[in-house]
Amino acid sequence: MFDINAAESQGRLPMQGVPQPTRDEVLHLPRVHISTHPVMAHKMTALRDKRTQPPEFYRLVKEIGALLAYEATANLALETCPVETPLATTRGYRLAGGIGVTPILRAGLGIAESFREVIPDAQIWHLGLRRDERTLQAQEYYNRLPHKVDLQVCYAVDPMLATGGSAIDAITILKRRGVPRLSYVGIIAAPYGLLKLSQAHPDIDIYIATLDECLNDYGYIVPGLGDAGDRQFGTF
Ligand code: URA
Repeated sequence: MFDINAAESQGRLPMQGVPQPTRDEVLHLPRVHISTHPVMAHKMTALRDKRTQPPEFYRLVKEIGALLAYEATANLALETCPVETPLATTRGYRLAGGIGVTPILRAGLGIAESFREVIPDAQIWHLGLRRDERTLQAQEYYNRLPHKVDLQVCYAVDPMLATGGSAIDAITILKRRGVPRLSYVGIIAAPYGLLKLSQAHPDIDIYIATLDECLNDYGYIVPGLGDAGDRQFGTF
C-alpha cells in the first residue's frame, strides 16, 4: 500500500516514481477488448476536448456507453421461446438469466444509464467507492447490492481505469456476492490500471473504448479527459 506519510515527507506524489508498463506491453492481454469502431474514435475526440461542456459531455458518455454495452453484451447467453407474429408462430429468443450493472459512483452513472437503454430489464446495483486523492486507495462508502443474486452476468462500469484500485475492489465485492460471471466496462484505461486489473482478476472480460499512454504523478490518465465525474456533473 502507498505510504502517504513517507511519500509526503519525501515530497512525493502518489504515482511519482512508480514504474508503469507501456501501451505495447498491455495491448494483447487476454480477455481485454479495446474498441476499434470508427464511430467510437470520433466520439472519443469530442469527449476529450476540454471545450466540451457538461451537458454535451454527459450525452457523449451515454452514446459511448451504448456502443460499449453493444460490444460487451455480444456474447450473452440466450434461450429459445416461441413467439407469435401476426402470421405464424416461430422461434424467438430471450436473454437466459438476468443482467446486472454496477455503476461505481458517481462517475459510472452515465455508462449505467446507457446499459439501461440497451437492456431495460437490467438490475442496477449501485456501489460507492471513493478514491483517496492522496493515497489513490479506494474506500467503500455506499453499497446497494441486493441479497438475492439471479444474474447470468454483472458489468462493473466506471469510465476511467486509472490505477485500477476501484475496479479491483468492485470486482472483489461482486465476486463475494456470488455473481457467476463478471465484466468491467470503461471508457479510457491507462496501461498501469489495465495490467493491475487483469492480473488481480484474470477471469473477467474487460471492455474499454481506448487505451491511453500513462498516469501522471497525481494518478490522472494522460492524455485522458480530466475528471470524468466533474465533467459529467459540472462540479469543478
Ligand atoms: N479519474 C478520472 O476521472 N480521471 C482520471 O484521469 C483518472 C481517474
